Amino acid sequence: MTAQRGSTPGGPAASAVSRRCFLRRSATAAGAIVVGFDPSTRAWAAAGQQTGSLARGFPAFDGALRTDAGARLAVADDFGHLVHRRPMAVLEPGSVEDIARLIRFAARHGISVAARGEGHSAFGQSQVRGGVVIDMRRLARVHRIDAASVEADAGVTWRTLLDATLERGLTPPVLTDYQDLSLGGTLSVGGIGGAGLRHGAQVDNVLALDVVTGEGLRVRCSRTRSPLLFDAVLAGRGQCGVITRAVLKLIPAPAAVRLFDLLYVDLAAFAADARIVVRDGRFDTVQGLVVPSPAGGWAYLLEATSSTGRADDELLAGLRDVRSEAAISDMPFAAYAKRLDPIVEAQQASGDWARPHPWVGAWLPDRHAEAFAGRVLSELTLRDTGGGPILLYPTRSQAFTRPLLRVPAGELIWQFSILRTTLATTAPAEEMVSDNRVLLARARRVGGIDYPVGAAPASQREWARHYGRAWPAFLRAKRRYDPQRILAPGQGIFTPLGRP
Ligand SMILES: Cc1cc2nc3c(=O)[nH]c(=O)nc-3n(C[C@H](O)[C@H](O)[C@H](O)COP(=O)(O)OP(=O)(O)OC[C@H]3O[C@@H](n4cnc5c(N)ncnc54)[C@H](O)[C@@H]3O)c2cc1C
Repeated sequence: MTAQRGSTPGGPAASAVSRRCFLRRSATAAGAIVVGFDPSTRAWAAAGQQTGSLARGFPAFDGALRTDAGARLAVADDFGHLVHRRPMAVLEPGSVEDIARLIRFAARHGISVAARGEGHSAFGQSQVRGGVVIDMRRLARVHRIDAASVEADAGVTWRTLLDATLERGLTPPVLTDYQDLSLGGTLSVGGIGGAGLRHGAQVDNVLALDVVTGEGLRVRCSRTRSPLLFDAVLAGRGQCGVITRAVLKLIPAPAAVRLFDLLYVDLAAFAADARIVVRDGRFDTVQGLVVPSPAGGWAYLLEATSSTGRADDELLAGLRDVRSEAAISDMPFAAYAKRLDPIVEAQQASGDWARPHPWVGAWLPDRHAEAFAGRVLSELTLRDTGGGPILLYPTRSQAFTRPLLRVPAGELIWQFSILRTTLATTAPAEEMVSDNRVLLARARRVGGIDYPVGAAPASQREWARHYGRAWPAFLRAKRRYDPQRILAPGQGIFTPLGRP
């Protein structure tokens, strides 16, 4: 392993290969530059080091390939803080071609590679033991915005994208609740939010993608151009390619929204009203939260927004009398989109943000949602959640069109997620992870399907079952676009999952 003074702007001292420094002297006072890869020891070779025979064709990068402990440790962790797999190097790409160069070299030598956006996965999804992690944040430019679309690098966060599009009065149709996630990161899993009832998930609003395949080929794909790749990359968990750029649909952004928080003490009443408003589409967004009830047990918060200017009476017509428990507020659309910011800041300040997060999430079919959630909630205490949010709300399945974002059949589907935090007062993280597996198995028995961004390890057989009728095409795409199976092994989909 090497130690070269950082050639990365702003970065710490680093081991690096860059075209610039590659052409310069090949050694510095602090150490040496990576000049190759020794396939017999599977180690990077530094200039001046005694090595066996180096593999031919080691690329020169526009950016930097870092092998220092700092860089490697930083990507051997994520928001879950549950899995720690250390790569042998981190690529900070200086160009898309760097990603293609690295992957071509890696494919020849069986080196695993995973893209990492903002690292907000919960269970090592973007980690790769002994391989190379690509830090996608290095390529993060919004390239073009027109009246109906935006083209941006995959390393751009939704916050940056939204700020740029709002300047033109436009927004992506679906926003996640939290904006500091990368485009590539959410497009690899789905990207869901309150606008799902109209617009599906973020993956349903992609017009085209630029992808580097597992063979290092650069391909632009869309619904009509290389559709096998397009379908395998959206919600494809980085298995068939690294997304480098996305062309996303935009719609006019409302200037302001009226936010309705309707509190229910009764699950059945909450579910009945939630079904009514999702079915008739009177609101722009609909979500729901399970919150501790002051009287003990759980209460249910229906959170809906409207930007139409319709009267409150009209928007609440036909619902049970929620007036006394309704909080209604007006806010700029941007403030609504960033409504979690103060909560996140408080969690960061308290240190809870840095604690383990054994999250779990599933989609439930409408006919079982209420009974299933009711049963789970009756057994759930703060010891199991650490006070983390619990999401429960229906949405319309019709707008969810991408084959790899698996959802149950039926007009309405329910999102049910327990966003656990491990505290000193809660069950230990391992117990929560094991509870996650039990919960998902129970959900599957009633026709539920995981939304796999959480902490619940799955076997290859379970993944095949998860993808169901989409599995044969996914497998075909994997064989075609990542024949060496080097991409994103941290989820154990096509290769067995190693130790955490
Ligand atoms: C606080 C918080 C709030 C969240 N809110 C929501 C929400 O409202 N809705 C929702 O749907 N999800 C939500 N999530 C989950 C989140 O969408 C996923 O965990 C997402 O994958 C994280 O994005 P990231 O940029 O951090 O990706 P990473 O964790 O860096 O990567 C996630 C996966 O995507 C792959 N990947 C990353 N970039 C690329 C790329 N360019 N090309 C190919 N593969 C890539 C990685 O290899 C990995 O498998 C939330 C997570 C957190 C921590």
